[in-house]
Amino acid sequence: MNEIRALVGKEYGRVYAWDKVNAPMIRQWCEVMGVDDARYLSAGTVTAPPAMLQVWCMEGFTQNNYPPGSTTENPYEALKMMEAHGLASVVAVNSELTFKRDVVEGERLYYATRLDTISPEKTTALGTGFFVTLVMTFFSQKPEGDEEVGQLLFRVFKFRAAQAAAPAEKPAMPAPAKRPPPGISDDTRFFWEGAKAGKLLIQRCKSCGTLRHPPGPVCSHCHSFDWDTVESSGRGTVYSFVVMHYPEVPPFDHPNPIALIELEEGTRLISQLVGVKPGEVRIGDAVQVEFNTFNNGELVLPQFRPVAVTPGASA
Ligand code: ZN
Repeated sequence: MNEIRALVGKEYGRVYAWDKVNAPMIRQWCEVMGVDDARYLSAGTVTAPPAMLQVWCMEGFTQNNYPPGSTTENPYEALKMMEAHGLASVVAVNSELTFKRDVVEGERLYYATRLDTISPEKTTALGTGFFVTLVMTFFSQKPEGDEEVGQLLFRVFKFRAAQAAAPAEKPAMPAPAKRPPPGISDDTRFFWEGAKAGKLLIQRCKSCGTLRHPPGPVCSHCHSFDWDTVESSGRGTVYSFVVMHYPEVPPFDHPNPIALIELEEGTRLISQLVGVKPGEVRIGDAVQVEFNTFNNGELVLPQFRPVAVTPGASA
């Protein structure tokens, strides 16, 4: 730690802003943050919201993509050195902004970092380590001399994680990821309750008999609000399909074939195909519904499996 503490007080080089303070960025930031204030959004020279201070000098979309001329020093080198000594965990604990004055459209900012303090060793519920405080001072570039506009204090706790109590029995496999449950409304509840009961239900207009899917409150044919349901045979054909390769999001297997199924009753629904190689799905394939249970029994989904067509059945 003596070697690391010797860095306290070190000043690191400048990190420049990619862009001048500008109205489009201010407008977008205000929109995202829900800020509606004429000072930041009026025509003419626009004032930037003070809380945007850190925004102006952020790296690009790619990590460590700083504008030309920015320092190549690592202001976090003390943290890296602590990691080498087994203090592998980090948690941010304080972020404090201080403002000297408003920043306005057209200014170009940069900041410089100082390693401010490293605390004595502390033991917390998380583990034992050190609070490290960095201070970034922001300046506006001026021909007559750069002007300080504000500061960001950033404090992290760099620590060796406390030994977690050993679980009585280590599970052999991590718990499988859960499937996202459907959003269920008064219009769609019957469909999911039907699935739980092993029935594929289709909404039917009580006035004119038209079947409809996805479910909705009103018949698009006669505009009646009265409806009941009929149980589908579960037989259908692949009307269209996609095979999802990326992103590979758990809990799904990839590639993941997803089809628009045309039921023999005439309505169509989207579902996952099972029991088929993704490269072998064809439009027109005959399929049959099956009901599979997920999320420890909480969720039942209708899925479709290709079935062999009886030879001569269509002859
Ligand atoms: Zn109708």
